[in-house]
Amino acid sequence: MSENKRTEINRLGEFELIHRLTNGFEQYQGNTVKGIGDDAAVIDNSGEMTLISTDMMVEGIHFDLMYTPLKHLGYKSIVTNLSDIYAMNGTPRQVTVSIALSNRFSLEAVEELYSGMRSACKRYKVDLIGGDTSSSQKGLFISVTAIGQATNEEIVYRNTALPGDIICVSGDLGGAYVGLQILEREKAIFLENPDFKPELEDNAYIIGRQLKPEPRADLIYSLRQAGIKPTAMIDISDGLASDLLHICTQSNVGAVIKEAQVPIHTVTEQQAIKFRLDPITCALNGGEDYELLFTLHPDDLDKIQGLSDVYIIGSILPPEDGVLLETSGGNFHKIIAQGWDHFDESTD
Ligand code: ADP
Ligand code: MG
Repeated sequence: MSENKRTEINRLGEFELIHRLTNGFEQYQGNTVKGIGDDAAVIDNSGEMTLISTDMMVEGIHFDLMYTPLKHLGYKSIVTNLSDIYAMNGTPRQVTVSIALSNRFSLEAVEELYSGMRSACKRYKVDLIGGDTSSSQKGLFISVTAIGQATNEEIVYRNTALPGDIICVSGDLGGAYVGLQILEREKAIFLENPDFKPELEDNAYIIGRQLKPEPRADLIYSLRQAGIKPTAMIDISDGLASDLLHICTQSNVGAVIKEAQVPIHTVTEQQAIKFRLDPITCALNGGEDYELLFTLHPDDLDKIQGLSDVYIIGSILPPEDGVLLETSGGNFHKIIAQGWDHFDESTD
């Protein structure tokens, strides 16, 4: 490194940064089937595949304890990692949990965090098998690693979509983002006037989408039952636009999404409009919905129509066509990634 060269990290963006940091690493192990670049890494253990995914949550960046109950935070920190294992069409088996705590946290508070983790482990039948504990000067850090299993035939990557495939998404999108806007608004009002009692009832659905997401284990199961294997899959953590672009870039294909087909809950739509946000923009760029975005061979069209809570939103195109949104008015716009960029938010 030259002495006076300094590149600001926020000029790079998350993926460029990861690329810069990791591209000098060689792979020495023959059983590393997939390294960086998918929802989980894949390791061949003599036939059975081990899936590994890890994520870190940082106070003030990924969560705000003013409106996030510790129990919900514990739950979310586990299930968001399980979502990455399901997105590979795998089954999560174990988790490790590492935390760093400032002295602001009492035993009771951390127990509350862990009670949420415990109910996530119970619900998805995964074992907590280890981790690490440290103090921190300021704030709470939570890092979870999920370990899963799949056979080689079962695994679905991001880089295997083909032109002509159908694009599907589960559930509904944008809710977690609009839920977050409500929590942020109530926080701002509360800070102005501490006697204020927030009325969150009408928005319980979208606030739940933000605070207590569920990974789509149910859908992975029903796809298996229906004999459907997606051609490519990713979980929607950064937003439909950004995550679709991951599939398209890695598969070297284009895509078209029909605006009118993108599932948006009525509460999400109504509240987005109250915030003067375009509901489709929330669905495309909101993130944290933890739904599954996947592509299917067109022969599976009949089978998928029998499944509930799955929506056909577009199709995969040749790469030269680009990645497009067809609006309800029949116009075409290029889809660009505008997902979360955490580096914009940190200040010091
Ligand atoms: P996801 O959103 O699905 O959890 P990320 O966007 O966090 O995935 O990460 C993209 C890819 O880069 C993943 O394969 C992840 O394991 C890898 N990655 C992220 N940060 C680092 C890092 N600091 N060093 C090495 N690999 C990283
Ligand atoms: Mg993911």
